[in-house]
Amino acid sequence: LAGLRQARSDAATPLAPVLSSHWDEDRSWTLDAYHGHDGYTALRKALRMNPDEVIQTVKDAGLRGRGGAGFPTGMKWSFIPQDPATDGTAKPHYLVVNADESEPGTCKDIPLMFATPHALIEGVVIAAYAIRAGQAFIYLRGEVVPVLRRLQAAVAEAYDAGYLGRDILGSGYDLDIVVHAGAGAYICGEETALLDSLEGRRGQPRLRPPFPAVAGLYACPTVVNNVESIASVPPIILRGPEWFRGMGSEASPGFTLYSLSGHVAQPGQYEAPLGITLRQLLDLAGGVRAGHRLKFWTPGGSSTPILTGEHLDVPLDYEGVAAAGSMLGTKALQIFDETTCIVRVVLRWTQFYAHESCGKCTPCREGTYWLVQILERLERGEGSEEDLEKLLDVSDTILGKSFCALGDGAASPIMSSLKYFRDEYVAHIAGAGCPFDPEASALVA
Ligand code: NAD
Ligand code: SF4
Repeated sequence: LAGLRQARSDAATPLAPVLSSHWDEDRSWTLDAYHGHDGYTALRKALRMNPDEVIQTVKDAGLRGRGGAGFPTGMKWSFIPQDPATDGTAKPHYLVVNADESEPGTCKDIPLMFATPHALIEGVVIAAYAIRAGQAFIYLRGEVVPVLRRLQAAVAEAYDAGYLGRDILGSGYDLDIVVHAGAGAYICGEETALLDSLEGRRGQPRLRPPFPAVAGLYACPTVVNNVESIASVPPIILRGPEWFRGMGSEASPGFTLYSLSGHVAQPGQYEAPLGITLRQLLDLAGGVRAGHRLKFWTPGGSSTPILTGEHLDVPLDYEGVAAAGSMLGTKALQIFDETTCIVRVVLRWTQFYAHESCGKCTPCREGTYWLVQILERLERGEGSEEDLEKLLDVSDTILGKSFCALGDGAASPIMSSLKYFRDEYVAHIAGAGCPFDPEASALVA
């Protein structure tokens, strides 16, 4: 966190720092610092609107979920029944913030909460008001204790200032927030596993439908939104949907946080309009590390199919990346140069998914285990051409046939790496070992 790099506002660059604009200010996480930048002004404005107007504003802006899937946020809110007292269910509504950021390479929500926790809290109060919830939860990845402490302190500050609790700012609206720390399972970032975990059970995905909007936490209507999505709401309320739509594209409007990591000169967070390209981002980040060239990259963490140097000019929005055969996902751009062994990287990712598989469904539980066995064999130089067909066959058995998105995420890098770098797999077989590092075979033995 200490090394996080902040996107800069500069007319000469295509950056658009909104969420990250004050991250490097002295004590940026305090209420005083947040007040210095229109903090909680959007909340005052939202409380003067009726909840449906708030939902319509977010719909008009076209904000899409920043957790990876890109589902329209305003539409998700509008699935919640209008009024618990009159909608025939009399069930309470809940807002749950998915702060269990764990996708390999993804590191945007954690810095956001660490640097400006009040941006999230203000967004939570506005979103909860819009969906008529009286209780909100922030489900935080358990390993990041400094962020937990900072969020708890910010929530306490917000209660003291009258932004949480009873009769918020004299509006008659009541809201409580609980910050809950998970226990370190990747699967608890899947929204229904998260809800099970929050209810005190072992986190495993539930069958959807019903989606959480219909039957979520304690079987009540629940909105589950990503941290960045919720933190984007106050600027939209304050500056209006047209301002937001002035950035990005028609189908993918607005700004977003891209995380650059790996073999890049200046890794960090770069906040830019959707649709910026990797070439532009690399220009801002000092390029691939000195003396090296790009080999492959992930557009949205390791669960999205890899892309290569051919894709430097792909617009990094939902449609552009899909047209290139991948997914925008969490916008976690992991950069790998020509010194990287593709088999070794894919093996490491697959070991991660096998370890994090919750075991509920057979294709993922068994398939990820066998994928690791085959990849280890290949990396040790003991594989055969037949193993490449087995990799594809097992991946195909997982893709689209697993219970949740984790299975697809495990299969994607394998299938895409074989599409672009089959020769490198074959070189491991022909040379009876890793052509990049003769000691690699010993490391995976
Ligand atoms: P999804 O497309 O199934 O759902 C996205 C959201 O829309 C969910 O909240 C879902 O409830 C809602 N939704 C979809 N259809 C609906 C309907 N008909 N009615 C009501 N609500 C509906 O995607 P998902 O399985 O929730 O998430 C997969 C994504 O998660 C991947 O794209 C991946 O990039 C991302 N991911 C993120 C992380 C991270 O650390 N942020 C980790 C792993 C995966
Ligand atoms: Fe669990 Fe994997 Fe099946 Fe998802 S795909 S339910 S993580 S076993």
